[in-house]
Amino acid sequence: MKKELSMSVSANGSDRRIQQFPNLPQVILETLNAGLGMLGPRVKAFEEAIKVNWGVHAVTTSSGTAALFLSLKVAGIQPGDEVIVPALTFASTSFAVNSIGAVPVFVDVEPWTYTLDPECVEAAITEKTRAIIVVHLYGQMANMRALQEISQKYHLTLIEDAAQAHGARYQGQYAGSLGDFGCFSLWYGKNMGGLGDGGLVTTHHFQAKERLRRLRNLGRDAGIANRYEHEEWGIRSRMHEIDAAVCLWQLSQLERWNQRRRELAHRYTEAFASLPVASPYIAPERVPVYYKYALLAASPEAREQLEGYLNRHGVETERIYPILVPNLKAYQQGLAHRKERLAVSEDILARLLCLPLYPELTEEELEYVIATLRRFYM
Ligand SMILES: *Cc1c(COP(=O)(O)O)cnc(C)c1O
Repeated sequence: MKKELSMSVSANGSDRRIQQFPNLPQVILETLNAGLGMLGPRVKAFEEAIKVNWGVHAVTTSSGTAALFLSLKVAGIQPGDEVIVPALTFASTSFAVNSIGAVPVFVDVEPWTYTLDPECVEAAITEKTRAIIVVHLYGQMANMRALQEISQKYHLTLIEDAAQAHGARYQGQYAGSLGDFGCFSLWYGKNMGGLGDGGLVTTHHFQAKERLRRLRNLGRDAGIANRYEHEEWGIRSRMHEIDAAVCLWQLSQLERWNQRRRELAHRYTEAFASLPVASPYIAPERVPVYYKYALLAASPEAREQLEGYLNRHGVETERIYPILVPNLKAYQQGLAHRKERLAVSEDILARLLCLPLYPELTEEELEYVIATLRRFYM
């Protein structure tokens, strides 16, 4: 009989990714020696590369959270306005709305894609609604056609929170190119990123792009000559040249990495087909990028047991996200918000478990996760 091997498999692979970057010390030294700081030639090259790859203008920022805030600002969202957001997301999505002084309205998600349910969105619209932020959760594209139609019908700004969807596609169009604005995180743990925090806004609107460039730089137009000329209010939200160099390289690897993520996801899904777990839904005409591989167990108790078993056998898992955003302390203690019925989000949250999935996952690790999970159900 085959000896039962034991391994430990990390939930994240970002530490392995940066080790592949060719000559990082040299790039850092070159950048520092050339006196390149923020918003230099590499940032420009990276923004241009995004335009070439995804067909949409790009403006880098200091984080995904800042990208969301700046998009809302440029969209003209005012204090007291309502912005529809999904309840199943990372806190940044709605915190950006609160930063404007606007009110996030938490709405339920579809039970198959875990992304905003267009019917629930339409039902939540009031006189005060000005925008929708859709989140392509775990790298799965939301129902963009329906959301585009709703935005047009009610004259709402449509913002894509694509922080988990770099390179994902919907009917051939890239995430971030389907709404008025696309907001990406370039934090090192996302499908693509730099060394620390970073972000990106994409937009087809030329004027909006120009304003974003100013607002991320304290209201200044770039260039030393204008150093103390602030055309308007702005924040500090610039990208460093070293991060831009890393991002530029990661963009060149992105499609290959995403392809590997899809392969791994496919292998998991096939291996678990006969087990009482629900694998991620495969939506027609959408190409997901599996930022996370989220399984749904049959019940909260089954999730608890599966999680315990996997963890005891060295397989790290994640609950993303363990608390619905409107239930976070920040909102419970008075941060402005409104919420609709969230039955689907609550059910998903209670049964969800994310397995290790990243391009650097080895074949041996993949097989081990599969074997361990299958053994639990034998
Ligand atoms: C990561 C993330 C953000 C925030 O991006 P940061 O770069 O961490 O500020 C926003 N929304 C979602 C859905 C995210 O996953």
